[in-house]
Amino acid sequence: MTAALIDGKSIAASIRERIAGDAAAFRQRSGVTPHLAAVLVGDDPASAVYVRNKQRGCEQTGMTGSLHRLSADVSQSQLLELIARLNADPDVHGILVQLPLPRHIDDARILDAVDPLKDVDGFHPTNVGLLSQGRPRFIPCTPHGCQVLLREAGIRTAGAHAVVIGRSDIVGKPMASLLLQKGAGGDATVTVCHSRTRDLAAIVREADIVIAAIGRPHFVTADMIRPGATVIDVGINRLGQVLVGDVEFAEVSKVAGAITPVPGGVGPMTIAMLLGNTLRAARLQTGETLETAG
Ligand code: NDP
Repeated sequence: MTAALIDGKSIAASIRERIAGDAAAFRQRSGVTPHLAAVLVGDDPASAVYVRNKQRGCEQTGMTGSLHRLSADVSQSQLLELIARLNADPDVHGILVQLPLPRHIDDARILDAVDPLKDVDGFHPTNVGLLSQGRPRFIPCTPHGCQVLLREAGIRTAGAHAVVIGRSDIVGKPMASLLLQKGAGGDATVTVCHSRTRDLAAIVREADIVIAAIGRPHFVTADMIRPGATVIDVGINRLGQVLVGDVEFAEVSKVAGAITPVPGGVGPMTIAMLLGNTLRAARLQTGETLETAG
């Protein structure tokens, strides 16, 4: 079997086109330009690239992307002050704090300080709670992107056994939560694996859908994949000059039914979902009534 390629790049491009149209219509009826403020602490080159791509995405879809750059030795209280200023600024609709933060800063304190109505990453406890109750306000961008990829590739989640490898707050847990929800894009039977899971390969072999979010190059090998299964690779790992995923793509694609590449799979979807959340945040803050996110 040779797997069908799930082309995140082209799916993301058509979603961005739709968001650009929706943003133009919103600007016209409200006179407001959606504005995403990104906060970048320190000079990690990968984080700087991610933030630049997010800003560029805003500009390309008719929204404002501003950058607040702070040095790696900024104090936690200075960072909290900046968040408070952005929370209070009516011209800012979405706030994104690029992770990871330097070790002397408590991530949870910072993420908890973001106004939940501006929390376009969906990391605030209020938004995590709403998601887990099945009435999301902002869905975390990476797992949301994976869910949309499954939908666009025509992969049925209802009744499927989905195995999520990784239990981070950013990817693994919200991914499991989304697949578990009642209704479209959900209704899966979900297993979450992590570093303490016994017999991980045997569990993954049972999966109709595998979501790999581990952060270890080529962790998922062909012998772990049931023939015909769908494989979504969230991993971004740098091997020398090359970016690779958590899945050994060449071999797994001979067994899987459908698979995402790295790069060009989940990555572009994450940004598209962030842009969607930014427009959603602007609509919420200008009093528009919105359907549940999804
Ligand atoms: P984390 O490091 O926060 O979490 C990794 C998870 O993998 C943990 O739950 C960990 O288990 C589990 N894990 C690690 N080693 C093993 C192992 N040997 N066996 C089983 N489970 C293991 O990473 P993130 O969730 O933030 O990111 C995961 C990957 O996705 C990274 O490569 C990251 O770069 C990428 N990523 C890509 C994005 C995109 O836009 N495409 C966005 C965000 C992330 P435990 O909890 O027990 O430690």
